[in-house]
Amino acid sequence: MKNISKQRAPFVMPELPYAHDALAPHISAETIDYHYGKHLQGYINNLNTLVQGSGFENADLKEILKSSSGALFNNAAQVWNHTLYFSQLSPTPQSRPQSILGAAIGRDFGSYEAFVEQFTKSALSLFGSGWTWLVADKSGRLSIENTSNAAIPVTDGKNPLMVIDVWEHAYYIDHRNLRAESVKAFWNILDWRVAQQRY
Ligand code: MN
Repeated sequence: MKNISKQRAPFVMPELPYAHDALAPHISAETIDYHYGKHLQGYINNLNTLVQGSGFENADLKEILKSSSGALFNNAAQVWNHTLYFSQLSPTPQSRPQSILGAAIGRDFGSYEAFVEQFTKSALSLFGSGWTWLVADKSGRLSIENTSNAAIPVTDGKNPLMVIDVWEHAYYIDHRNLRAESVKAFWNILDWRVAQQRY
């Protein structure tokens, strides 16, 4: 996917690096049809409408995220969040973090297994809609963060490495109310290569 942060209006849908049915059974084609095809498309459409007359007509997405508020911020952030989310999934993922990121996870969480447990706990404890992130601070130190609704962790200078969408729309088709099942499925399709590239 192209660097979404540098895009300007009119915003276009990021291309998916896999077919809609490629992540099954972990994420179904129907979920991708709705989550990517309807929800993300909706945020893109709203963003293109809201940016008109806002003073941000010529700004790139990063500038909009930094300086806007209200509905414009919410839709811009959801475009950014979903682009990061969809682009890190793969039917042929690197299933465990390697090299520098793998070592940093060991250093900051004790082990990969301990990280998965802590991240899962965080995702399950998030009340309502939001996102659970693995982020790095400027020194490379890792932490897990929850954000509500459309909020993004970069607003306080953190670099997001990977993220899970825990809005109900991300899992209700496949798992109904069972968020824990969707978090469990997520680990099978998360490509740690992409997280490493972002580190
Ligand atoms: Mn979503």
